[in-house]
Amino acid sequence: MSKKKWVYRFGAGKAEGTASQRELLGGKGANLAEMTNLGIPVPPGFTITTEACRHYQESGEFAPGLEQQVDGALASLEEWMDSRYGSAEQPLLVSVRSGAPVSMPGMMDTVLNLGLNDSTVQGLGARAGDERFAFDCYRRFLQMYGDVVLGVKPNEHGENPFELLLKEHKARRGVENDVDLDAADLKALVQQFRDKLEADTGKPFTEDPKEQLWCAIRAVFDSWDTARATAYRRIHRLSNVGGTAVNVQAMVFGNLGSDCATGVAFTRDPGNGEKRFFGEYLLNAQGEDVVAGIRTPDPLTRTADTAGNSLEETMGDLYQELVGIYRKLETHYRDMQDLEFTIQKGKLYLLQTRNGKRTGQAAVRIAVDMVDEGLIDERTAVCRVDAESLVQLLAPTFSLQEKQDAIDEGRLLARGLRAGPGAATGRMVLSAEKAVDMVRNKNEKVILVRIETSPEDIAGMHISEGILTARGGLTSHAAVVARGMGKPCVVGCGDIEIDYSRKEFRVGDRVVKQGDPLSIDGTTGEVLLGALPTSPSEVVQVLVDRSLDAKESATFQSLQRLLEWADRYRTMQVRTNADQPADALAARAFGAEGIGLCRTEHMFFGGERIVAVREMILAEDEQQRRRALDKLLPMQREDFLGIFRAMEGLPVTVRLLDPPLHEFLPKDRAAIEKVAEEMKVAPERLSHKIDKLAEFNPMLGHRGCRLGISFPEIYEVQVRAIFEAACELKAQGVDVQPEVMIPLVGTVEELRWLRDRLEPVARQVMKEKGTEVPLSIGTMIEVPRAALVADGIARHADFFSFGTNDLTQMTYGYSRDDAGPFLADYLSEEKGILPADPFQSIDQEGVGALVKMGIKLGRSVRGDLKIGVCGEHGGDPYSVAFFHDVGLDYVSCSPYRVPIARLAAAQQAIASEAKKKK
Ligand code: PEP
Ligand code: MG
Repeated sequence: MSKKKWVYRFGAGKAEGTASQRELLGGKGANLAEMTNLGIPVPPGFTITTEACRHYQESGEFAPGLEQQVDGALASLEEWMDSRYGSAEQPLLVSVRSGAPVSMPGMMDTVLNLGLNDSTVQGLGARAGDERFAFDCYRRFLQMYGDVVLGVKPNEHGENPFELLLKEHKARRGVENDVDLDAADLKALVQQFRDKLEADTGKPFTEDPKEQLWCAIRAVFDSWDTARATAYRRIHRLSNVGGTAVNVQAMVFGNLGSDCATGVAFTRDPGNGEKRFFGEYLLNAQGEDVVAGIRTPDPLTRTADTAGNSLEETMGDLYQELVGIYRKLETHYRDMQDLEFTIQKGKLYLLQTRNGKRTGQAAVRIAVDMVDEGLIDERTAVCRVDAESLVQLLAPTFSLQEKQDAIDEGRLLARGLRAGPGAATGRMVLSAEKAVDMVRNKNEKVILVRIETSPEDIAGMHISEGILTARGGLTSHAAVVARGMGKPCVVGCGDIEIDYSRKEFRVGDRVVKQGDPLSIDGTTGEVLLGALPTSPSEVVQVLVDRSLDAKESATFQSLQRLLEWADRYRTMQVRTNADQPADALAARAFGAEGIGLCRTEHMFFGGERIVAVREMILAEDEQQRRRALDKLLPMQREDFLGIFRAMEGLPVTVRLLDPPLHEFLPKDRAAIEKVAEEMKVAPERLSHKIDKLAEFNPMLGHRGCRLGISFPEIYEVQVRAIFEAACELKAQGVDVQPEVMIPLVGTVEELRWLRDRLEPVARQVMKEKGTEVPLSIGTMIEVPRAALVADGIARHADFFSFGTNDLTQMTYGYSRDDAGPFLADYLSEEKGILPADPFQSIDQEGVGALVKMGIKLGRSVRGDLKIGVCGEHGGDPYSVAFFHDVGLDYVSCSPYRVPIARLAAAQQAIASEAKKKK
């Protein structure tokens, strides 16, 4: 028989495991062990390891020796609790809960009150002196066991069949609340639940508590692989291997009367990070009632409007004990904790502690505050904040004036609890599937509205702009998940009455139909009819609009400090992609250290320019083309003056014209006639030329350097404009650092040929102006072939910039413009062909291999070759980490992602420094 230890006990003040065994015992198990060792009251139990789960997943069988070890641990538990599992006289009930090494709130399965059957329920009632309580536990057990172990499914409206039976029973009896049901009601419900289970499974319900236990353990192991858990791991980029531990723990009861309660708490406010103990509880209830949002709970701490209902007021001593414990735990773990507790007959038990999920705003504030409090150092603070979550600090809010106008017009529908800050507007949808359908297939933005959410809704929540629920508190499933995803969220909005079958909700006599526009403000809890315009966040008001004083915004100040620390540790630079002075200035305010990509084609649209551009394209010969280009030259020079001035002292990479020329030409008949009139040519001639320029595959057609080779005068004029602007500013004492970048190079000869023509133009301008500015000509590496021959290319390039948008397109052979529909299939839960959208997150294996090869070959020729990336991936934290590791000098991203890239670059620098030390 195997000697391997599969089971770790905790109880009677000591535990076999510790917090450091997270991989083996899962987060919950490791923390239960740690709390036991810290002397915090925890109901005793044992943890079955993740290794046992992996054994089961691989072989389909329980590990050898596991059953004996569980029996042994159960015997200790019986001894500690002075009761017997399965005994009718002194019944012991247990909970079976999942607990993976990484926290996946609400994703995996739990069964409470195991050990009940028709005889043990009698014993439980007799022992507690409360038959009602015993049958309440029994109906809860049947419901959870039915859901988790026997796989009873929700109906087509997503409603739980047991909840419906409960609702019907309450309606028949004319009672509002579960607590108003008496023992006879609960007995009747138990019978109905059992009938339902037996009808659904076609088998009698098992009365054997041991069989119940093993079936529950098996179900928790299996819950690792459910579609919702797999989707959660994919969204949060967690590894799919590892499995879950299972915690079997003696039940303590929060539903044994009015001196019992259950609740959840955060050691700091997970919404804004404020240092205040924060949480909710329900009297006479079991844990799942709080999290599932079935009743709206009361707050823990007394405030002006708690009306005597807070825990601090109802159970003052226990509240103080809880405060002592939370302080101890936060100091011990040096992070904000999310706790679950139960009070049984005046005794407090902690059921769980874990690092709490929080909004981006809270994450930044908590990290900075904890450095000030001496709990963590700057490096830890930098690594604590999910870089992507900074989006929430920059995202817009509703304009105060517009919102007030909407309220004055009577469009305020209701108010709920503020569960996730930020403003969201979209079409109202009542199911997760509808949300996915509207976004993927109709390109709409949506607000998901549910009575309460469940883990099945995860994909719909992820795709929605915001989430609104009718029931549940600030720690309900919707609130916790939305905060984790950074979505605006309003919960517990009791005034909205949802009717899934009519596809609408009502507030009084007002009806909102699925598809109607709706707005929610997660910062204030307001729900408004119609779409509302948004206005900039505080951070943007301080940095970009300069309409708010930095001193007025605590959020801005915390962010500023965190990013200063990030800059201290990161080694990779962060530039921006911008082609307008206003965007460049915004990016600079966000900390951009240069422009990595200025797309000149954007400058060609609008006003008189487009006329000159069209003349250039339609020219019959070089002479005509040069005449049109002469008109464009002063305009381009003005553009560069603006950009260079905005980026004074920093490098600006200007990319020469890239898109196919037909993109600049009019498309429909009326527009063609208008342009023909402007250009004084016959519309037929114009149409003919447009037809001639049409391509089957424009993205692989006559674009990028291919245009520069066919019509060198276009690039020559661009280079002239760049250097005229640079010399003019230099003469004014402005520090300018232009870099000329050639797009779509795939062969050495393309770059050499163009460089030979463009370099003399730049030198000629400097000679004419009598001013010298640095001359740097480089290339994009965005055609796979360029990466393969990068050593040859490097002989003619002063720098490389990976265009990972095109590189991804051409490496996979996926059209950037047409991949949407099949990528949706590829990314779907069912098919799962790709782990992530390769246009958002770099494909390290394939595209990444080309990037590595390009760097290696390029630097083999020029050791000091400056190399960056300017595709969309430059602002994606996961990709930024990769670019750090492969040794890029900089990433360049859109202005609003600059802070994200700064933080992500610092996190990877700190992580690799730590790895080296090991
Ligand atoms: C790229 O291809 O990655 C790139 C930055 O250029 P564009 O997106 O303009 O093609
Ligand atoms: Mg490109």
